[in-house]
Amino acid sequence: MSFRLLSGNLDGIDGRIVEVEVDLIPALSSFVISGLAGQGIRESRERIRSALENSGYRYPDRHRIVINLAPATLQKDGAVFDLPIALSILAESGQVPKEAFKNWAALGELALDGRLRKVPGSLGIVSALRRVKHESVLVPAENRSDARQVGGIRAEGACDLREAIAVIVEGGAGTGFDPPEMDTVAGQKLAPDLSDVRGHAVARRALEIAAAGEHPMLMVGPPGSGKSYLASRLASLLPPLTGQESLEVTQIHDVCGLHRESGPVRQRPFRSPHHSVTWAGLIGGGSPPVPGEVTLAHRGVLFLDEFPEISRRSLEALREPLEMGEVTLSRSRFARTYPAHFLLIAAMNPCPCGGSGRLRRSATGGMRCRCSTATLAAYRARVSGPLLDRFDIRITMETISGASLFEEDGPDQESSSDVSVRVELARERAFLRGQQGSNRQLQWKDRQRWAPLGSRAKKFLIECGEQGDLSTRGLTRLLRLGRTIADLRAGNRIEEVDMIEALSLRGPGWS
Ligand SMILES: [Zn+2]
Repeated sequence: MSFRLLSGNLDGIDGRIVEVEVDLIPALSSFVISGLAGQGIRESRERIRSALENSGYRYPDRHRIVINLAPATLQKDGAVFDLPIALSILAESGQVPKEAFKNWAALGELALDGRLRKVPGSLGIVSALRRVKHESVLVPAENRSDARQVGGIRAEGACDLREAIAVIVEGGAGTGFDPPEMDTVAGQKLAPDLSDVRGHAVARRALEIAAAGEHPMLMVGPPGSGKSYLASRLASLLPPLTGQESLEVTQIHDVCGLHRESGPVRQRPFRSPHHSVTWAGLIGGGSPPVPGEVTLAHRGVLFLDEFPEISRRSLEALREPLEMGEVTLSRSRFARTYPAHFLLIAAMNPCPCGGSGRLRRSATGGMRCRCSTATLAAYRARVSGPLLDRFDIRITMETISGASLFEEDGPDQESSSDVSVRVELARERAFLRGQQGSNRQLQWKDRQRWAPLGSRAKKFLIECGEQGDLSTRGLTRLLRLGRTIADLRAGNRIEEVDMIEALSLRGPGWS
């Protein structure tokens, strides 16, 4: 006879149910685990032995302990099975009555002294148990508040193995840490607001268009021209997270072990990794794979400053998440898919010396460039062609004049919430058209259905194709921008004025 207890593991950010089966066979002492178990699980023997003995229980020596983790097709890793394996050994060896475990599932890592340690991803695992209408789950005390967010399943916490047994056998309430409830209104005020920005009328408008159509955006400007300042306000222009989106972001934070207040995440993420970020740090990696910045930015904004300094390989790898909204990480034994639907905004200096990229002092006082022609050409070549082409919006930033710093009236005072209302209405128009996804994803072949053009706008677009070096891909990007600009002014058809503005946002990236 063997003993079985339910637990779970992560598959991407979602939880999967795993059945832990333990059998004790009188034989020479050994510990065998089957069922696609990773290194973390195979190392569990010493943790479990010490935890049992230090908690006053007996480790069944002179037994072959056979552990099977089902389903065998799911790759499993981490220390999450320490607790269910230890509990199953106690039940199977007759130290705790088997009947006590009826309707219980368990997950948690054991320390050598028997304490229970927090595990990542409890939200996803407990959700999976709730989906099959499982009754009760025991988790480490520090996971209790996450587990209780799920609702519809009894979730109890324990600090150590002895307390875990007490909760299960005596039906006590157990312990847990409940972080203080966050004041949502106060929390939202922490996000920087667009109303702090003076001047920059073009960049503000570009941010609004980027937010409405999810258009990737590149800002080119000298240091101090406000690129980071503006980028950090982009997330505040997006509509509030929906319930489903909030759940996805909360699960990602849980899996990555990010600190978070109690309750679901309500704010859109804003991630700004340093330009020295590795490929794995940006895309995700390791064994087992852990999510990278593209996943941490899911449903929010990914800001890449000093864009040309990021390795070419990392930049090329952005293609998959930008097109698919997810990223699949494959290692020899693991393949995991993580969500990665984000709005990309990048910034770069016009030249490596930090000047304006111009040989002479510009009208607005931009610093004179000290770079040689060759240095400048090499720098720009790093982001040329296909990479640059991935940005629907490319604007040049100027150091703003002293006078505009003192502008206290006018449209500069508009707050993020004012703009986000227009953004939401524009997105709603796309939804009401029956369009799948955002304007960024519009295809050329679908243009008559989703992006009808006024006659002058059509003529304008034809001329752009004839005069300039715009390929079909370039024209498609122009059309997508035109669609969003028309949506922002609540227009059904794209007019010439929309196309003219769209073209003005497709600058070469530097002047
Ligand atoms: Zn320079």
